[in-house]
Amino acid sequence: MKYDFTAIEKKWQEKWLEEKPFTAVTGDKTREKFYGLIEFPYPSGQGLHVGHARPFTAMDIICRKKRMQGYNVLFPIGFDAFGLPTENYAIKNHIHPAIVTKQNIANFTKQLHMLGYSFDWDRVVDTTDPSYYKWTQWIFLQLFKKGLAYKASMPVNWCTSCKCVLANEEVVEGVCERCGSEVIRKEKSQWMLAITKYADRLIDDLDDVDYIERVKIQQRNWIGRSTGAEVTFKATTGEDIVVYTTRPDTLFGATYMVLSPEHALVKQWLDAGKLANADEDDRPSMFARIKAQYLKAREDRKAKKGHRAAAKATQETGAPADSAPSDSSFEQENPQQR
Ligand SMILES: [Zn+2]
Repeated sequence: MKYDFTAIEKKWQEKWLEEKPFTAVTGDKTREKFYGLIEFPYPSGQGLHVGHARPFTAMDIICRKKRMQGYNVLFPIGFDAFGLPTENYAIKNHIHPAIVTKQNIANFTKQLHMLGYSFDWDRVVDTTDPSYYKWTQWIFLQLFKKGLAYKASMPVNWCTSCKCVLANEEVVEGVCERCGSEVIRKEKSQWMLAITKYADRLIDDLDDVDYIERVKIQQRNWIGRSTGAEVTFKATTGEDIVVYTTRPDTLFGATYMVLSPEHALVKQWLDAGKLANADEDDRPSMFARIKAQYLKAREDRKAKKGHRAAAKATQETGAPADSAPSDSSFEQENPQQR
């Protein structure tokens, strides 16, 4: 017998939407609880990819099994929906990011339904919803009150043309991915969370949690605890330079030290004219070189893409690949979705 998935899956997915068999029951004291949680996806314009489907399917199987075993299962879905790609798309296309986000969530929702996951659709979390982020703001205030949220000056990537901070991924070969302009390192006041205050507990308490060993190792390496000392060196200009080292016993061998270009002392010495070789700063010429390389690479990529598209067009006929189906009908079917 042929499995007619379009007919069969559509039929059951509609029935699930109607009868809500996957809804967790609040206050049910008769059954044991089970909480299945997946990492909420970022609703990008590209839609779901296999990297979503793989873990979602695994947890969906577990949740369905637990329900069959009589558990009261909470398996929520949500959208980690604030993000740079949406912002950039909104800037580029002059659409308000809230609209883009709404459209992307509607598309993701439709796709998740098509995959037949047993999420509790009455418990959808959207991080851009004020009723959600009022709580992250509340948490931030608690951290602030306890001195765990603070402002600090940090070097950031600054596009001289877009006049905004760029993530590391947006800096391609030293220039802005968006416009190809020079990216400089700039000191900017940023909000920081003092998670390092909990570094020891984060490491020590890994012994108490039921994670696979590989994940525990990753955590330990990420936190990267090391034991050492801060040593103060005296510069010939009179200032103290504090250096952290895990091997103070090797200090006798120190012959020189390197300060990063962003170091406050470098700027101080530059301004005071104390750096003998200050004129050797060749950053302007370096950026000109990098920009030329970037523009050439971009042209090459464009040429390649054009070539591929032309080759494809000769092989295929029919609708263009980017003609995505409309989401509007789906939104009406699901009034509980925003
Ligand atoms: Zn730029």
